[in-house]
Amino acid sequence: MDLKGLWQAVLGELEVSMSRANFSTWFRQTAIIANDDGHVVIGVPNIFTKEWLEKKYHANIKTALAKLVGNVTTIEYKVGSIAAADTPAMQLSELPASHAPAEAQPARAEREPRSLPKMAPAHTVPVWTGNPRYTFDNFVVGSSNELAYAAAQAVTKFPGTKYNPLFLYGGVGLGKTHLLQAVGNEVLRQDPDKKVAYVTCEEFTNEFLGSLSKKKTQEFAGKYRRIDVLIVDDMQFLAGKERTQEEFFHTFNALHQASRQIILSSDRPPQALTGLEDRLRSRFASGMMADIGMPDLETRSVILQRKAAAQGVLLPLEVIDYIARHVVSNIRELEGALTQFMAHCEFHHLEPSLATATSLLGGRIGSASKSKTLTPRLIIDKVSVYFDLTPVEITGSKRDKEIVVPRQIAMYLMRHELSLSFPKIAAAVGGRDHTTAMHSVAKIEKQLEADEDLRTEVQTIKERLRA
Ligand code: ADP
Ligand code: MG
Repeated sequence: MDLKGLWQAVLGELEVSMSRANFSTWFRQTAIIANDDGHVVIGVPNIFTKEWLEKKYHANIKTALAKLVGNVTTIEYKVGSIAAADTPAMQLSELPASHAPAEAQPARAEREPRSLPKMAPAHTVPVWTGNPRYTFDNFVVGSSNELAYAAAQAVTKFPGTKYNPLFLYGGVGLGKTHLLQAVGNEVLRQDPDKKVAYVTCEEFTNEFLGSLSKKKTQEFAGKYRRIDVLIVDDMQFLAGKERTQEEFFHTFNALHQASRQIILSSDRPPQALTGLEDRLRSRFASGMMADIGMPDLETRSVILQRKAAAQGVLLPLEVIDYIARHVVSNIRELEGALTQFMAHCEFHHLEPSLATATSLLGGRIGSASKSKTLTPRLIIDKVSVYFDLTPVEITGSKRDKEIVVPRQIAMYLMRHELSLSFPKIAAAVGGRDHTTAMHSVAKIEKQLEADEDLRTEVQTIKERLRA
């Protein structure tokens, strides 16, 4: 097997073990340059790829190589120009369309962007409108976002030259905006004179359409083409907006040709952006793409710990673990659960405990496990124990105040903890009328707003229900 064939076989192995974005990012323009008795030299296009392969993929590469050549003693990654002939053909098909030879000579209209409009006055250059809290420092890195994180950092080191555009994609609440703005904040920290702009795609669209109706498109174009680092968030919003797409295409080309950095985000990869012109899609995919997924349990725990610590609170590990295990949708929800928990503890002067976390968040997040154990019967039992009554008294017909209120609390809990219908609640507390159940639940709900003692009682019963 010659070196090219060997590398092709290795790439075949590696390709199936990682995401497409990772594969095409790290292994395009790589090749085996030499194999001296088990000392293998792999050529890579830049230092960043070298570091990444050493750090992240070394073991995979070594295993794949060993399968094919037997003894692999050392692997060296060497930065330098690799002749195109060395790069296996398979990789060329991995290249995004705009790098493919067919587009090497784009049509005239595409090659020459519309003549640059007269420069707009400097004061119309958009200013950075980012959130200073979004930094690299407070972004927790795990396997689900490390590629995006590293790429974003690389962009701050080599803006406009290394990965242009940088395209981050992933579901809602997973940190795209955070990373995008971290780049903006960092670029400005290094050089406050840089013109950095952050806009959502929606803002870009509205501003463009506004300039169109005011016949000020030249001003609009001039403003955006003076920017050093243009960050546009949520590109999926561009779908179906033909005129804005046209404008964005020209903005993109003007900036790109001037080696200004473009950073984009979207909820899906460029290939999956429907309602987008092909030429835009291929440009979006022509630089660096990285996906962001939901962090694993360990990373979620670290995020929670850091967020709590940032507010000066040290949470017990079991509380952290409980929240991290139960919120699996996205980081925004994770933060929401934490905030809710801490506010609850503060408001009720409770020590942060697992019991509180379970009772507070169980209904919201652990509904599957909750409904298995919690029953109307259990609620009646716990309420009666708490008020020193018997279950029969709760379901019976006595109307003494000492019994009526616990009965109402039991109905309230059935409604809120079990989402039972009013007829079912009425049946569970001794076959009453369903309007009685409605009134009882409404009464407790209203009293809870004003009566702190009642809140504490209800809360304590809830915790016992979970214990
Ligand atoms: P997206 O733009 O993908 O919808 P955001 O960037 O708005 O998501 O993130 C949602 C929230 O989660 C933000 O408050 C952000 O700071 C936080 N967040 C997301 N990922 C991380 C992370 N890896 N480390 C710390 N906080 C994160
Ligand atoms: Mg966002």
